Amino acid sequence: MSIMPILKYPDPLLRKISEPVTEFDEGLAMLAADMKETMLAAPGAGLAAPQVGVLKRLILIDDRDDPEEDYGSKVLALVNPEITHYEGAQCDKEGCLSVVDLSADVNRHDLVVVAYHDLEGNPRTIKARGHKSVILQHETDHLDGVLFLDHLTPLRREIYVKSLRKKRHGEG
Ligand SMILES: [Zn+2]
Repeated sequence: MSIMPILKYPDPLLRKISEPVTEFDEGLAMLAADMKETMLAAPGAGLAAPQVGVLKRLILIDDRDDPEEDYGSKVLALVNPEITHYEGAQCDKEGCLSVVDLSADVNRHDLVVVAYHDLEGNPRTIKARGHKSVILQHETDHLDGVLFLDHLTPLRREIYVKSLRKKRHGEG
């Protein structure tokens, strides 16, 4: 297993649409293992394959229901995830391993049902509310080139992009 570099906004790969996974092979299992190590090292609540430069529909999420459980004890890999049902609304602070130095309130669905395949190719579903639901929506967005930035108001986004530019000028 190895830790992979995480792409940072505005890397153009983060804007691409990822391809469905068709082979549930050793390569997929290895990618998921590397992504798990990368996510836990970050640390993050979730990670999508395009964030490590692989345009495949694979996401990992922190699957703990109880925050008292050890971080990393439950990490779920979802292949070709699709939100098949949603209900209600919630708003909570989000951040992203690919969007440095920003956390902001994002409006999301409260409950989601996600259909996916496990790493062996078996069809499964997960139903989640609250924080886990947010992670599922955030990571699934990544597969379509959508970042949480896109859910912010244009003004909030502009302020962030300007602050990034300023920082880069400062560094360069
Ligand atoms: Zn993210």
